[in-house]
Amino acid sequence: MPHPPLPEFLHQQLSSWPLAHYNYQALQQIRRRTLTPAGVTVHLQYNPHRIASTAAKVDASSIQARRCFLCPDNLPLEQKRLSLPDGFQLLVNPYPIFDQHLTIPTLTHEPQRIAHSFASILGLAKMFPEMVIFYNGPRCGASAPDHLHFQAGNKGFLPLEADYRIGQWTLLSENIHEVTIRPWQGYLRGIISMESHCPKKLAHLFHCFCNTLKARQPDLEEPMMNLLCHYDTDRWVVHILPRTAHRPRQYEATGSEQMVISPASVDLAGVVILPREEDFMKMTEELLIDIFKQVSPDDQTIIDIVQTTIERCRTTSGF
Ligand SMILES: [Zn+2]
Repeated sequence: MPHPPLPEFLHQQLSSWPLAHYNYQALQQIRRRTLTPAGVTVHLQYNPHRIASTAAKVDASSIQARRCFLCPDNLPLEQKRLSLPDGFQLLVNPYPIFDQHLTIPTLTHEPQRIAHSFASILGLAKMFPEMVIFYNGPRCGASAPDHLHFQAGNKGFLPLEADYRIGQWTLLSENIHEVTIRPWQGYLRGIISMESHCPKKLAHLFHCFCNTLKARQPDLEEPMMNLLCHYDTDRWVVHILPRTAHRPRQYEATGSEQMVISPASVDLAGVVILPREEDFMKMTEELLIDIFKQVSPDDQTIIDIVQTTIERCRTTSGF
């Protein structure tokens, strides 16, 4: 499959769509701060344009009451689409976090689920090797939990990428049938990374992880998680971020404790999006640690998930 002309597509959209043009220009002036809780780099981005996404109401009745903004019929007239494999469409995200920020929904309106679309995220990562492709589960930061979609942002932006290469926080847990598994420790949020040149084996292992996570959250439509995936030279890296909560207590708090923060892939990969200036100003290392701890499993849980999954995988036929 030929690579769609990404820079041209972005350029064309920014020159013909005033909203996108304005928001990508505004991104260049945006205020940032860096904190290093427990020695881990986390950038804060004060991004007022993200308020609709961060504060999105994703309960069933709110979703039913609004028009789906990812369905082709509801896109703004200026928004162009490029067709991709597996029924996906490439869109420029008009409320960017990255210098290049894409939304990749399916053409059809179907629920946000990763189990049957995992092969697609691998395909997209290979098709766009200059991008990180990510998935926010329906209760893990997706503002359209009713419409299957990924997002993509340019490489070199998220601290998680460099931190993975450095290897300071990752343990080499296992190399099982051509997939290397690395649980993270001491990184303030629970992450399991998988790396392989074989998409089939990655998919098999991912489904084993899903089964482990499902057993821990049996009542949910899918286990809570964020995923980030990229392709380098000849191999994929997939970061699985299991979740324990949708939003921290500060989101629902009133008065001085309240913070409008709704962690998703980007936040947990080290760029925390804060649409309100007051939250941007008052964020501290202690608050970050507290917020990550509320939404993400601890180090021991990550080790348990990996061990259970490897045992499960070993007993599964065909692996
Ligand atoms: Zn839709």
